[in-house]
Order: sequence, then C-alpha cells, then structure tokens
Amino acid sequence: MSDDLQQRLDKAEWVLKNSGFRHCDIPACNCGSWHQVGGYRARFDEINEAVEEAGFSTNGRTLLDAVKDMAEKYNDAQNLIRQLMEQPVIEDTLYGRLARFRSKLPWAYELWVRKHLPGTNC
Ligand SMILES: [Zn+2]
Repeated sequence: MSDDLQQRLDKAEWVLKNSGFRHCDIPACNCGSWHQVGGYRARFDEINEAVEEAGFSTNGRTLLDAVKDMAEKYNDAQNLIRQLMEQPVIEDTLYGRLARFRSKLPWAYELWVRKHLPGTNC
C-alpha cells in the first residue's frame, strides 16, 4: 500500500472515530464495518443519566421536564443562598441559617457542606 493511500485511510478512520463510529467488535454481528455508537443518542443518554443521578426522575415524564425541574431547583437554591447570605448577621446565627438551608433544600445543603466543609457529616 502506498504511503499516500495509507495516509488517506488513516485520515478517514480518524474522521469516523471522531464522528462517533467504532469498528465492529460484536462477535454476533461480525460485519467488519463500522457502527455508530456516539452522536446524538449517546449524548442524549448521558444527559438522561446525569438527570436521574441528580435525583430528577423521568419516570412518566419527558427528559425536558426533568431538566426544567433541575434548573428550577438550582435557581431556588441560588436564591435561597443569596437570601441567607444577605440577611444581617445580627438577626440570625449562622447555625440558624444553615439549619434553614438544610431543611429547605437538603440536597443542596449536602452539596454545599461537601464543598465548603469537607470531612464534616451533614
Ligand atoms: Zn457489525
């Protein structure tokens, strides 16, 4: 095989691999060709998994609705954190703020503690 042809084949293979194709390694298929494993479907599945892992069920609902819920919860958490931090300290103790944070958004509280107070139990 000429160097030029080999270079062209290498380039074609690189393009296929970077477009989400993998050389067939399924014994039952054995087509010797390429299967599309990446692309939109894989990206879609990744989002689906991440949403489920974050505790937002898609059971009986669309993925878009679950993502909207997640965004709403995130905004709620942001607003609550802002409120808690803007309140004058004199009105409340830090412990009281954290306790309210924990009771209103336990999942966000857990993430916050893990980030800001590592090694502490919630
Ligand atoms: Zn195949």
